[in-house]
Amino acid sequence: MADDQVLRQTLVRLDGLGYKAYKEIQGSYRFPGFTLHIDFVQGDPFAAPSRLRVVVPQAEAGFPTETFHSRSREIALRDYLTRQFGKAAAAVREKRGSGNSGLMAIAPTSQYILERSALWVSEAVVEARFWVGLPARGRQILGRTAADLLCDDLPLIVGRSLFYSALNPTELQQHLTVAEDTDWLRDQLAARGLVAFVPDGALLPRQSGVDERPLQDSSAVRFRSPASLRVEFHRPNQGSISGMGIPKGITLIVGGGYHGKSTLLRAIALGIYTAIPGDGREHLVTDAAAVKIRAEDGRSITGVDISPFINHLPQGRSTTRFSTENASGSTSQAASIIEALEAGARLLLVDEDTSATNFMIRDRRMQALVAKDKEPITPLIDKIRQLYRDYDLSTILVMGGSGDYFDVADTVIAMTDYQPQDVTQQARAIAAQFATQRRAEGGDRFGSLTPRVPLPKRLDSPEKQGEQSWHGGRRGDTRPVEGDRPGRGPKLKARDIDELVFGSETVDLSAIEQLVEVGQVRTIGAAIAYLQQHYLDGRRTLPDLLNQITPQLATNRIDELTTYRQGDLVAVRPLELAAALNRLRSLSLR
Ligand code: ADP
Ligand code: MG
Repeated sequence: MADDQVLRQTLVRLDGLGYKAYKEIQGSYRFPGFTLHIDFVQGDPFAAPSRLRVVVPQAEAGFPTETFHSRSREIALRDYLTRQFGKAAAAVREKRGSGNSGLMAIAPTSQYILERSALWVSEAVVEARFWVGLPARGRQILGRTAADLLCDDLPLIVGRSLFYSALNPTELQQHLTVAEDTDWLRDQLAARGLVAFVPDGALLPRQSGVDERPLQDSSAVRFRSPASLRVEFHRPNQGSISGMGIPKGITLIVGGGYHGKSTLLRAIALGIYTAIPGDGREHLVTDAAAVKIRAEDGRSITGVDISPFINHLPQGRSTTRFSTENASGSTSQAASIIEALEAGARLLLVDEDTSATNFMIRDRRMQALVAKDKEPITPLIDKIRQLYRDYDLSTILVMGGSGDYFDVADTVIAMTDYQPQDVTQQARAIAAQFATQRRAEGGDRFGSLTPRVPLPKRLDSPEKQGEQSWHGGRRGDTRPVEGDRPGRGPKLKARDIDELVFGSETVDLSAIEQLVEVGQVRTIGAAIAYLQQHYLDGRRTLPDLLNQITPQLATNRIDELTTYRQGDLVAVRPLELAAALNRLRSLSLR
């Protein structure tokens, strides 16, 4: 294998040549302490940057086994090293010529500790995958600049981020123990009969709707559990912690506008992930199969049995296999609940802010004016208990607008000045004092689920085959991060966390609120292509298909989804994959 001096000499020799001559450096180079693999060299300075990998033997990297011996620790260590590499790369980054010249970047991270294909740790090695914009002026190679970047800057970045001895041991330890304790807490919920846990002292509000970092403001109010809902856990690493436990069943979050209801619900929705230390939501955990559901008019629905909620449509249209290219608010919300149930959800999260009113409630007066046989919709209020009783599906519902829900709630939490109170008893007393006189419309049972079997038809248009490119980075960042791939398969592009281009189709993912990194959207795209290639046979049901692919979505088998080792995939739940599949307009069923 050539060494770094050979690479340097080659780059200096290429100085001034046309950009294509860079292809010559593809290959592996021995550096002091690590090996550099230049896997793919970009075709020109404006194309997606080149793909590189660094592999450090553990003999050099020196990570003690206890930093990665449990699954939680392994993921947290990989997450931590990705962040360190990203920081070190940002510190030496400067623009060095045209296009993306001088760029050196690893997959962007968020507020959550997630498994990413950017960084791997084993007993044998530490491997980092990243991108480099090979420098050019116009289309002429800047060979000396490239030599600085790869032979001087890169060893510096690697030295600062991938060797145990170079890291801050206290900070790393904190990252690992918080991750392990948080994952442990999430695993304890079911045994305690809980669906979520919000620690005392948690800081829930965020900087803004597009910035997930904690609100840095002296006015921010820290969470304090009502005494009646307070629970305590003894964490394996960090000892005792107390906070509000939300029991299984139906929970209402009530309170005046602007008192922090939606903020609490959103924090709960993201409690499926483990937040980084300093986030304010450390140790806030939610049932791993929690799904936030919203109304989404205009979405596509394919063959969903929405009859538990919607029946006898005008013109006798069937609702047991309901398809539409353009759903209404209420049908979209009904379909999303049925789909979540089919994909294995155990907890529904619903916010009145993003719900269709006619799906949520139909009061006594409206029942009197519009007869049941002239109203296709059975509102959630008449089905919510059946969902729990028949399918063990709990719900947490933000509902400031209708006290009719008091009749169906097990727990009622009022948010006042950003603080929770347990008002369950009061709500019961009020429900007894002011009867709604509603007629229950939901029947005896929730209704059965009809299994759906997707057809093996291509989920994209065939003329787009053979071309594949990835784009996107942080939210709103459209810089290309991945290049023309050699493999076959549908064109895939993750524009941002709310949009997936799959073949000729653009899937709107903006209503899938628990997606937090654009790499998850890439994983979804790769997973759909993989399902299509290996499992879509016109016999397997949708839940079968999800089961087949679950190991690849979120264990260290994520590389199996793609034809070459990508550095830009991020673990995602089958629930989000299902949500994306369900929104594909080209999905068709047997
Ligand atoms: P609601 O859903 O009850 O109308 P929101 O959750 O939307 O209220 O919160 C309203 C505003 O208050 C938001 O700007 C939010 O960031 C802020 N906020 C929420 N919780 C807190 C808190 N604990 N401390 C300070 N500000 C908060
Ligand atoms: Mg709100």
